[in-house]
Amino acid sequence: MDAKEKYLLHVCCAPCSPHPLRTLRQQYEVTLYFYNPNIHPVEEYQNRLGEVQRLAALEALPLIVGEYRAEEWLAGAAQWKDEPEKGLRCEFCIDGRLDATARMAAALGICRFGAVLSTSSRKDVKMVNRLGTQAAASHGDMLFDAADWKKREGAKISVRISNQLGFRRQDYCGCIYSKRSADARRAGHAV
Ligand code: SF4
Repeated sequence: MDAKEKYLLHVCCAPCSPHPLRTLRQQYEVTLYFYNPNIHPVEEYQNRLGEVQRLAALEALPLIVGEYRAEEWLAGAAQWKDEPEKGLRCEFCIDGRLDATARMAAALGICRFGAVLSTSSRKDVKMVNRLGTQAAASHGDMLFDAADWKKREGAKISVRISNQLGFRRQDYCGCIYSKRSADARRAGHAV
């Protein structure tokens, strides 16, 4: 039997990942990549990373953990602090994470990569796919798998598997700005 093609899959959190990774591993030799310097605070970063490590162990998939360059991320994102979700701050955030994934894939000699980001309705799927395609183009002979992982019941399947596996779900996208919006919503303030 021919060896499966290698695939680097960017994962932002465990609850968004089960459906994409189970689908992709049927066809590819998948390695997970956790690079999310946007996540705030550090305790939340550690929680999300811990859940992804648990998912990788349960699925017996290799996991690479990128550097947590939170200060650098905050310095870059500050100019867009008042942007709504799916705006320019998210463009900066998603671009940085997908570009790092393309760079890691190139370093590993992997020619195909993708992301689970489109599982979440908090993300603009066209933005994700455009930025992933750009990142691939800037790293040589690389292919980004454009996808919408919430389609065809994908989001529901990921939620069902996450619940079965007991993954903790978060109520904000990840950065300090999305956390402030979620805190305000919880307190009953319009945002
Ligand atoms: S809302 Fe989400 S995608 Fe947008 S900047 Fe914050 S963490 Fe990144």
